Amino acid sequence: MLETHRIASGYGRMTILRDIDIRVDDGEVVAIVGANGAGKTTLVRTICGLITPTAGTIVKDGTDLTAIPTHRRVKHGISVVLENRRLWGELTVRENLRLAEAHGRSGGKQRLTYQDITKLFPIIAERQSGAVELLSGGEQQMVAIARALLMQPDLLIMDEPSTGLAPKIVKEILKVLAGLRARGISLLLVEQDVSLVAGIADRGYVMSVGRIVHQIDRGQWQGFLSDEKLVKAYLGG
Ligand code: ATP
Repeated sequence: MLETHRIASGYGRMTILRDIDIRVDDGEVVAIVGANGAGKTTLVRTICGLITPTAGTIVKDGTDLTAIPTHRRVKHGISVVLENRRLWGELTVRENLRLAEAHGRSGGKQRLTYQDITKLFPIIAERQSGAVELLSGGEQQMVAIARALLMQPDLLIMDEPSTGLAPKIVKEILKVLAGLRARGISLLLVEQDVSLVAGIADRGYVMSVGRIVHQIDRGQWQGFLSDEKLVKAYLGG
């Protein structure tokens, strides 16, 4: 579904990412883990088109997306929830979600309706007429995910879902997200706290200083987590 080939990218003349090769297959949940400053957010911004790579390619379903802008990547089925969520705070929950419905992917398969979203996150129906800025952090995260999903992606990318939220809420959210596999939506989860994603991700990549330094294959999460030296070296844990 998604493959990056030897991506290099950064800010101005400063190269942050080097030789990034990652892959997300149909229906997979893939995690990218790494310590603060490893380059995870830079990778998300590069995959969704907010930063243009200086080398390498990003291919989705056989189409080279490397040079196309973010809004057109949405049309290719990529939706992203950025760390700061970027919701319209003064608009209501429903208004935020209507904007997503209007600007989402057309021509793709409709995987989720607003009704489906309210079943996944009942709080959204309860708060639909309230301004987003009055919601708690966890509720805002749910609205941000709902907005991304109503753009009808087949690949959802999430940057640091745990930021600023209680682990219990993050776990609830991740459980809902993992269930999206059944609807044909793959997930790329970028997260500093490896213990949060280990339970739901099929595979993983460990980033350190702008490179992929380790791969976690199917069934290998426990082995990785119990290797104290490896965890300490790459995640500082
Ligand atoms: P965090 O968990 O802290 O968000 P991260 O793994 O997502 O970390 P990035 O935010 O991608 O890491 O940062 C990687 C490197 O890029 C860091 O050295 C950071 O200082 C640098 N960096 C990030 N944003 C910018 C920017 N806008 N301009 C210049 N350098 C930046």
